Amino acid sequence: MNPNILLISETGGILIAFLICFIAIPGIVIGICVPISVHRHKYMSFVELYSEAYWKVKEINSRYFFASIPNFDMSHTYDNNDFYPVVSCQDYLTYQLVRLDKKVVKALNDAEDNRIKYSKYWKEICSCQYGVFKNDTTGYNIDTLERYEKQIVEDIIKSPQRSFTITVTLKRVDMGGNYQDEKYKTFNERTIDNILSRIHEKRGSRFLDEEIWQSLVRVERAKVSNKLRFAVFARDHERCVKCGSRRNLEVDHIYPISKGGKTEMSNLQTLCHRCNVKKGNSIE
Ligand SMILES: [Zn+2]
Repeated sequence: MNPNILLISETGGILIAFLICFIAIPGIVIGICVPISVHRHKYMSFVELYSEAYWKVKEINSRYFFASIPNFDMSHTYDNNDFYPVVSCQDYLTYQLVRLDKKVVKALNDAEDNRIKYSKYWKEICSCQYGVFKNDTTGYNIDTLERYEKQIVEDIIKSPQRSFTITVTLKRVDMGGNYQDEKYKTFNERTIDNILSRIHEKRGSRFLDEEIWQSLVRVERAKVSNKLRFAVFARDHERCVKCGSRRNLEVDHIYPISKGGKTEMSNLQTLCHRCNVKKGNSIE
């Protein structure tokens, strides 16, 4: 074969491939997509202008406002095995509810409000009728029109949060921070409400419900992480602050947790085991 002919046919092949890739395929894609989009736009505009259901739902929507409820899910990681098995998810929730009290009470009320309002809202929504148009539908496929109508109307129907839960996740890691274990529990409104009402039974700063009090004590005690323990030892020069011993060192709450003391640097001291046992529950 003449090498020139081969060259021409090769060039022609490249040219054809070029035409297919950059002109023919995009042309076909545009040829299909543009009419679909024009068709879709035509139907959607008609629904938005003339559907009775669409206008009714918009009017109903303008009269109903629902509260948005924040998420209170919580998690905590324990870096030692002394506390992870002792603290339950409910203990941890109780501890946090003391702090979050008013915000959670509001969320519970908002969920209840949303439920009441939503049942009225939904009754009104259900009274809307599909397939009624304020204009002549000639030139439109009625099934397609109703399909678009349903889709557009369903998109604007409100769906507020009507229940409230809090999930507590507790994790355990080893000294190196590697994941070991986890437990979690989801609490419903009734349980949360029950814990809150027991938290509200107080005399001064003292919680009257013994179970609530014990939960708080367990979580407070478990706040002594390894990191905090070593920080207290370092501050006290790795010695018992009473007798100066360097052996069997422990972290002690100066003002005991059982009397309302908190786990924070200023309330922690280094004691040897012997001095700690001798001190017991007293304040020194
Ligand atoms: Zn000592």
